[in-house]
Amino acid sequence: MSNLQPARGTRDLLPEEKRRHQYVLSKAYGAARLFGFQEMDTPLFEDTSVFYRLGESSDIVTKETYTFDDRGGSSLTLRPEGTAPVARALISNGLTQDLPGKYFYSGPMFRYERPQKGRYRQLHQAGIELFGISTYHGDVEAIQVAEKFLTDLGLRDKVSLEINTLGDRESRDHYRKKLVAYFTEHRDDLSEDSKRRLEKNPLRILDSKDEGDRQLIKDAPLYGDSLTPDAHAFFNHVLQSLESLGIQYTSNPRLVRGLDYYCHTAFEYISTDLGAQGTVLAGGRYDGLVKSLGGPDVPGVGWACGIDRLALLITGEFQAPRPVMILPMGDAAEKKAFALANELRAQGLITETLYTGNLGKRLKKATKANAHTALILGEDELTQHKAQVRLLDQGTEELVALKELAAYIKANSSL
Ligand code: ATP
Ligand code: MG
Repeated sequence: MSNLQPARGTRDLLPEEKRRHQYVLSKAYGAARLFGFQEMDTPLFEDTSVFYRLGESSDIVTKETYTFDDRGGSSLTLRPEGTAPVARALISNGLTQDLPGKYFYSGPMFRYERPQKGRYRQLHQAGIELFGISTYHGDVEAIQVAEKFLTDLGLRDKVSLEINTLGDRESRDHYRKKLVAYFTEHRDDLSEDSKRRLEKNPLRILDSKDEGDRQLIKDAPLYGDSLTPDAHAFFNHVLQSLESLGIQYTSNPRLVRGLDYYCHTAFEYISTDLGAQGTVLAGGRYDGLVKSLGGPDVPGVGWACGIDRLALLITGEFQAPRPVMILPMGDAAEKKAFALANELRAQGLITETLYTGNLGKRLKKATKANAHTALILGEDELTQHKAQVRLLDQGTEELVALKELAAYIKANSSL
């Protein structure tokens, strides 16, 4: 017998949870659209090189990807995130000729992680990417979209915005040297993964979730002390803009991004309600990415949010929309029901039909389906071109002409 459980770390999104996801998604896209972002999709898998560029190969383990050879021998990777694929699409489609480019994406991502509440192996993200704006205005705009989105979701006062700067290349080189010196001094206390990172990409150590590493990270040099004056000025412009917009934030000098192409602003929106899975939206500037993929030197800034985590945070009922239920009693009525249902649907009413069972059973089913209205269609009603309309919330019943049904339902039922 086959295993009927979904694979570890994956789950079915049943209608109620799917509606929560759709709701979150609609707010994300709604906010992005107001700022002129356009929706795009990239494939669920990419050539592995899109995610692992030269010199990063030892990160395959730490980046938690599903990487495999297909039957033709190509190495493919299920996308763990959306930014690199969108940047790849920018290059493949010649969109670097048409900047600034503002894109919104959403969909499943895949990471081989230890599953727990708010952490899955197939997760769902939505995100924005803003290409071609090298000044701080891009960073501020990205944060503004996040603000609008989280406010519309009713979650802005349940999360806090933490922000930091990673500076420019010069700041980064300076910082990397200090970091390597510090961690080399404590090499023996580092986890095996982090020892490897120390050679390849020391900044990724700061992302480590290993307890021993975390202890060392606490006393590691701070990025802020390695910033060039230009990088300082850039960050100050961002912070001043947030202040003048009335956007609340906390500076977090420990907030970093491990990958080399990140620079300047890094930010995260964090909830205290989800334990260790508290980050619901994370973003920043990644000026080196497009170039590292083989494209022109196009700057970028953006963010991604975790739809699964946001869906856990939102409150309220997410019920299915309520239908009108047609209950045709007898052959002639059953035949008439098809066309009648279509007439109601043409008027925008969600309409379903119950074909079997006695009247009492069907009324029970209609109530269970949360119908607001039951239309009882029998031989007598049919000859009069009428239907017996039962308003299920009120429990009242009235004979209404078929022609007037839609108007009557709209006027009397809570749809
Ligand atoms: P974390 O520190 O929680 O592992 P991350 O730094 O790996 O997060 P990002 O790559 O920045 O996360 O992804 C953006 C957002 O996607 C996260 O803030 C989070 O809300 C969500 N996310 C990331 N990984 C998962 C996962 N395994 N399951 C559910 N949501 C996730
Ligand atoms: Mg992670």
